[in-house]
Amino acid sequence: MTTQSSTPKPQRDALLANAHRHMPMGVADSYRYWGEDNTVFVESLKGCTLTDADGQEFVDFRLAYGPIILGYRDPRIDQAVIKAITEVGTMSGFSTGLDAKVIELVKSLCPQIEKMRFANSGTEAVLGAVRTARGFTGRNKIVVVEGGFHGLYDEMMWKPDVDGWNPEQQSAPEIKSFGIGIPEASREHLETISLNDLDALSDVFQRLGDDIAAIVIEPIMGNCGSIAASQEYMQALRDQCDQHGALLIIDEVKTGFRVAKGGAQELYRIYADLTTFAKAMGNGYPVAAFGGRAAVMDTIHFGAKGVTHGGTYTANMIALSAAYATLSVLKDTDALATIHQTGAAIQRVLSQVFSNHGIEHKFAGPDSMFGIHFNTRADQPVPHNYRDWKQTNSELYTTFAHRLIDKGIMLEPDSREPWFICEAHQSLDLDWLQRVADEALAEAIA
Ligand code: PLP
Repeated sequence: MTTQSSTPKPQRDALLANAHRHMPMGVADSYRYWGEDNTVFVESLKGCTLTDADGQEFVDFRLAYGPIILGYRDPRIDQAVIKAITEVGTMSGFSTGLDAKVIELVKSLCPQIEKMRFANSGTEAVLGAVRTARGFTGRNKIVVVEGGFHGLYDEMMWKPDVDGWNPEQQSAPEIKSFGIGIPEASREHLETISLNDLDALSDVFQRLGDDIAAIVIEPIMGNCGSIAASQEYMQALRDQCDQHGALLIIDEVKTGFRVAKGGAQELYRIYADLTTFAKAMGNGYPVAAFGGRAAVMDTIHFGAKGVTHGGTYTANMIALSAAYATLSVLKDTDALATIHQTGAAIQRVLSQVFSNHGIEHKFAGPDSMFGIHFNTRADQPVPHNYRDWKQTNSELYTTFAHRLIDKGIMLEPDSREPWFICEAHQSLDLDWLQRVADEALAEAIA
């Protein structure tokens, strides 16, 4: 099995060779590097289509890791941004009132939000929420879930080493830093538990209960093939936090305004004390936020007793106008219903292809961002935590993904990254998808 692309890409090769002279790994962000033969350079984007530097067109299910919810270059959003920056300007470091209007919209969709602040990335939103939780509770410990991802700041860079972990062993994978340059001290207050393990949850609260400031969780793990928490687990999480005076932070950076208008919390009807948002909130414009209970958010204040929050680019006009326009469309139209119907239809097609080739498979997560897990037993339920994911045939998935990319379907060749659906996918030719997926899978298993 090979994962190397077979399509010659002279423009890409030239761009990458030049980029190597200017950037580490030849890319502006390490995750864009897919190897010398696979790294993608983009010429243009429209709807659900990505055209690369060599003119090959792709139907894109990666969608920039999830922000594109309506489609690339959606005129409803782009025109709102152009109007804002030509009539007002990009930023002044003062407020315009549009910030409060965006928050009113968020509050109309997400009942758990009473007050909110903005940020420039998901990482920054999580950092703000965690600091606010620590400030409010006066405690330091933060609990995260194996397989979740909460951005690239030091404390969140401690991850279970599933590569070095043997599924036969009973003990948890060792926690290691994700790369060097991360001080050991940054993990001092971090604890990790496995998703959907009620014993591990009560154990962590028994051991550390009154020191825990917050649990941070992606209930539908957008960074682990959309493996989802059970309803029972989310209820237990809420109950344990309440019993011990800890806060529940639900990281909706990927799920927010995507899996439902009110995000994962609308699906579970379990509400967080603090929620983080980004991605789908701005249809590709860089906007993020965190918010929640007013009493908790009001810990943000000047002075020695206040939580500090701010930043030069926070709530700039590009971010706010994009968020206002995107959230208005999501609120007032059937875009999300369309996205879910399209995602369900795509899964039916793919499922048929996998079954035709005798590949056991499971889909995880909602239709707007679903994960595909190969080679679980036919009678096995959808994987329910990171350790289960480790036992899926992710190598076959990666080979299949590379063959799809060769044939014009863009996706992340790692089964931990879900397939993202946007409104523009509604025009997708499902017969074409079936044909391409069938050919790609035949080659991957040959
Ligand atoms: N939280 C979650 C759940 C994410 O998926 C991500 C990024 O993918 C982040 C936080 C970090 O967001 P950003 O890349 O915008 O910093």
